[in-house]
Amino acid sequence: MAEAADLGNQIGIPAARGAVDEHKAHPDMKITDLKCAVIGKNPVVRIVTDEGISGFGEAEQYKPYLKPFVLFYKPYLVGEDPTLVERTMHKIRRLGSFKPWGSAVSAIEMALWDIAGKAAGLPVYKLLGGKVRDRVRVYNGAYRTPPAGCEPEDFARSVQEMKDLPHGFTIVKQGVAFHSQMKREVPDFYYGEPQPHLSHGILDRGLLTARGMKHVIACVEAMVEVLGDDVGLALDCGPGWTVPDAIRFARAVEHLNLMWLEDMLSGDYVPFVNADVYRDLTHATSTPIHTGEQIYLRQNFKELIERHAINIVGPDPCDVGGIAELKWVAEYADLHGILMAPHGTGNGLLGLAALVQVSATLPHNFIAFECPKGDPDWWYDIVDGLPDPLIKDGMIEVWDRPGMGVDLNPEKARRHLAEEDAAFFD
Ligand SMILES: [Mg+2]
Repeated sequence: MAEAADLGNQIGIPAARGAVDEHKAHPDMKITDLKCAVIGKNPVVRIVTDEGISGFGEAEQYKPYLKPFVLFYKPYLVGEDPTLVERTMHKIRRLGSFKPWGSAVSAIEMALWDIAGKAAGLPVYKLLGGKVRDRVRVYNGAYRTPPAGCEPEDFARSVQEMKDLPHGFTIVKQGVAFHSQMKREVPDFYYGEPQPHLSHGILDRGLLTARGMKHVIACVEAMVEVLGDDVGLALDCGPGWTVPDAIRFARAVEHLNLMWLEDMLSGDYVPFVNADVYRDLTHATSTPIHTGEQIYLRQNFKELIERHAINIVGPDPCDVGGIAELKWVAEYADLHGILMAPHGTGNGLLGLAALVQVSATLPHNFIAFECPKGDPDWWYDIVDGLPDPLIKDGMIEVWDRPGMGVDLNPEKARRHLAEEDAAFFD
């Protein structure tokens, strides 16, 4: 036994069980409450524990209605040890789904990691295996004003504005075709009727006219002309394209070396995955094809990845089931030669912190994540701990504080709470 203990010491294994327990800082931490408040437009989750540590998570600003979905999970969480993140997730992951249920589960997962990190005194990236990069690249899908019109010069002006920003973004993303007003404002753009109230839903789709196809291509050429070789251009395209048009377009822009074409066939708020159809597109062109921001859980990426149906996956940590879920997808994609560019445009500053923590740990198939911003601007005043400047040369420095490493400042945030959420920080 003595020899075994010596060997254990040499290779860092504690000699006896008692040694493990002594170093367990929080042996029986328990969740006592789950709260949700809409701050500005973003739903924010707070998990309260019996040891005075709280964890925070945030969902995207396009879901201000999310509160009842979050609170549904409270009875499954109270009494659980939040530092056992995976065991706690077993209680609720099975009760999630594509948006909006998966968004609620995701925000909770990130709040659990925040607690686990704070309890251990470690940044979350260390709990996920450690960082492999000290700075993470971000791309710009949120720091911009949309094009003023639908003509090539409007698109050129819009990307010029993005190129001129002090953040130094090296990749920008622009919405075109069905992910823009082109479908409504360009006369005879496609053989279909745009729906009045859906921005880019599955109901707006159809074959493009020859004029429509030429128009999109002209707008893309105008943007590449502005961005040159300095800044990569990604296009959010739909969904809404038919397969023949998607192939024709992807081939027509091959010489422009675009970063990727996103969500042409399905994606965004579409509650299903279309792996076989994506495969037809991806294998017909050298332009990289991207999708996945709407997908809940690693299992729903399986077919896309195993069938090599896309070139780049783009899960959103606030929809896929959280940051550990996203990391799993990234690792599995990497085994199949598929790249990773996480989505995140509406995830707010707590969502940004979560993206920084997980992106620091991803394999080298990681390209960049879509950088969320504080909206309204006062969000930057109520979150402590972000670097200043936040984005430099299109990169964010990974910080080293425990948990997600940023704090919602109760004194400053309280004044932005709705009356019904007044007790959020109590
Ligand atoms: Mg998108």
